[in-house]
Amino acid sequence: MHMNFPAQRGNMEYYCLGCSTRYPTDELYYTCPECGSVFLLEDLDFDRLKATPGTQWREIFDTRAATKTTALRGIFRFYELMAPVLDEQDIVYLGEGQTPIIQANETLIDQVGQPFAYKNDGQNPSASFKDRGMACAFSYLKALARENQWDEVLTVCASTGDTSAAAALYAAYVGSPLRSVVILPHGKVTPQQLAQPLGSGATVLEVPGVFDDCMRVVEHLADNFRVALLNSKNAWRILGQESYAFEAAQWFDWNLSGKAIFVPIGNAGNITAIMGGLLKLYKLGIIETLPRVVGVQSHHADPVYRYYAVDEPTEREYKPVTVEPSVAQAAMIGNPVSFPRVKHFAEQYEAIGGKDSFSVVQVTEQAIIEGMLLANRHGHIACTQGGECLAGLIRAKELGLLEDNELAILDATAHSLKFIDFQTMYFEDSFPQGYGITSKPENRNSPQLVIAPEERERLSADDYTRVTAEAVVKRLGLLKR
Ligand SMILES: *Cc1c(COP(=O)(O)O)cnc(C)c1O
Ligand SMILES: [Zn+2]
Repeated sequence: MHMNFPAQRGNMEYYCLGCSTRYPTDELYYTCPECGSVFLLEDLDFDRLKATPGTQWREIFDTRAATKTTALRGIFRFYELMAPVLDEQDIVYLGEGQTPIIQANETLIDQVGQPFAYKNDGQNPSASFKDRGMACAFSYLKALARENQWDEVLTVCASTGDTSAAAALYAAYVGSPLRSVVILPHGKVTPQQLAQPLGSGATVLEVPGVFDDCMRVVEHLADNFRVALLNSKNAWRILGQESYAFEAAQWFDWNLSGKAIFVPIGNAGNITAIMGGLLKLYKLGIIETLPRVVGVQSHHADPVYRYYAVDEPTEREYKPVTVEPSVAQAAMIGNPVSFPRVKHFAEQYEAIGGKDSFSVVQVTEQAIIEGMLLANRHGHIACTQGGECLAGLIRAKELGLLEDNELAILDATAHSLKFIDFQTMYFEDSFPQGYGITSKPENRNSPQLVIAPEERERLSADDYTRVTAEAVVKRLGLLKR
């Protein structure tokens, strides 16, 4: 069934979290020209949406989830809540969103002691949640380029890997006048993540250092040159990523009571978007209860955890940290650009949901990698950041933050294959010291060669099959039938 694209448009503005200045969205802003702070995007007509009851919004979104109209099928089925200024012709759809939520099996739930499920955002087109934000940012850029008849738009991002993979993919699809440039920390992204922008035809520039160094280079470019920056300071990306929250609510039939959403925090764009999205649903009566939101950080990159570890809000102090090696490499960020946004939404969130509705826990590198191995041994496809969420769940339970039957929804932010080298390091016991990870033999797995290659040389074809089969029988202890 095809559907008509919504006719009504919102009235969107950039809103600066530093100095409260507002700017129209007919120009692309990355940060506030006045004070340099980050923006949020606001629909000034949002309150008009309240005229439609929550139950009716649910029906609208549920109907769109089944449409064949591609512009309304992915993250833009929540069009009115996201970027209701775009036209259908500008919406870029590569199959992002609609990712499944997979309940952990009984064995695993028994072992962890808490019911939980993974939302598999690794099933997005470039295999991470970053596609949600890129679909929105590229749709907006496409609209801008068309309206202004620009003949070239250089899109630039610094990345721990997944942002560049997503940006390069969407740029490749949209094509002219967009061109993609990505800036990566040399040797600090996985081979898979490097291969992705290369394969999409992006210009890949490498910088010695870590992500935070790349970020400073990109900021310099933003301040001085004409480029479209796609890092998560870009408020359009945050909007697109709100779709994660909308989908989680939709999956559970718009009832998030008794649920806790666990999110790894790196640059803090994702947790910002999830809280922002949940608040929108709540304000429109689409959900009646806010779920608990728990951010998770590694002890090797934990500035947000440290900030909220101080109980008294007036005594909290934000300080960037110097990161140490982390298997949750996509979240290995010492100075998260979206921190002001987290603060902004956490205050609103706690004001409605109570003090316990938002918290941040800290986990060890050992717990992160073992969280991933444990999940995947039970049929999940979690990346290391997904492992971080499971470690966070175990930690939150230890701290008594959860009710007994609360269902935890863990964000598997990327596909396990993107970060598979960390599994290999664990299985081969080859972690460099900086990670502080000990590989335990009982958690390892490795291929077993059945017969030696030299033996194969010596044997006839028939004997080879028989001897090899006999070796397999012996290893498995098979019984004759
Ligand atoms: C980007 C990323 C993160 C961190 O998300 P932020 O929005 O930067 O906090 C976590 N996991 C994966 C796989 C990512 O690509
Ligand atoms: Zn400002």
